[in-house]
Amino acid sequence: MRLGIISALAEEQQGLVEAMERPQKRVHGMREYFLGKLWEIDAVCVLSRIGKVAAAMTATTLVEKFGVTHILFTGVAGAGDKSIKVGDIVVAESLVQHDMDASPLFPRFEVPLTGLTHFVPDHQLGMRLAAAATGFLQTELLEAVTEGERQQFKLDQPRVHRGLVASGDQFMNDRVHLQALNDALPGLVAVEMEGAAVAQVCYELGIPFGVIRTISDNANEDAATDFMRFVKSVAAQYAFYIIRRFCRDVV
Ligand code: SAH
Repeated sequence: MRLGIISALAEEQQGLVEAMERPQKRVHGMREYFLGKLWEIDAVCVLSRIGKVAAAMTATTLVEKFGVTHILFTGVAGAGDKSIKVGDIVVAESLVQHDMDASPLFPRFEVPLTGLTHFVPDHQLGMRLAAAATGFLQTELLEAVTEGERQQFKLDQPRVHRGLVASGDQFMNDRVHLQALNDALPGLVAVEMEGAAVAQVCYELGIPFGVIRTISDNANEDAATDFMRFVKSVAAQYAFYIIRRFCRDVV
């Protein structure tokens, strides 16, 4: 296995690169790829930056230039449903590009000429991610996130959800829009800006992939409040601990 790990924000990636043994940095296409061992696994970590095109380019490069055999995406996302809380974790069971609409030529959400609206991650990777996330919440959350930050973000027994993740080139911060999307996409658990693009690339190149997201906001008018603080003090910790568990389990 050569594992590509994509993050969208620098804070989420930093701990992983620091954990690498003697990482080698390669610059390609305005991105820095860090190659090295992560807890015994041959890995390449990279920051995709934000949005579907950025993520698709990064995923393609990971496969075509750096030879990764599997891809994980770690990041934050808005809650796709009222039952999902800030601090919960979502593991994608399927992904859709919510701003893809070539109707009436193709059904809404269908990526033209693939015949697909939903892209499905690798089942095994999804199981391992969910197991790593559950294990983390049960045993390591208290050491990973300070009590002050847990109180600040009301992290009260966070949960792991599996379901549909919708990606689009839009930071979702409007409850009416979110409700419309939730109505159009049954089983929606999270909204973000990259996952379904990585999913399409991996589908087309035949690469198993997984997407895991920490819920940072409710995708409504309050979404931008404390966003960066959450990323730094909560989501970055989640990503580090969960990927560590994931890597240790895989070996
Ligand atoms: N304020 C940030 C921008 C973050 S963009 C900055 O200045 O850098 C949002 C990132 O988090 C994207 O990578 C996206 O995938 C994810 N995300 C979190 N909440 C989201 C939401 N409500 N809607 C869309 N993407 C969201």
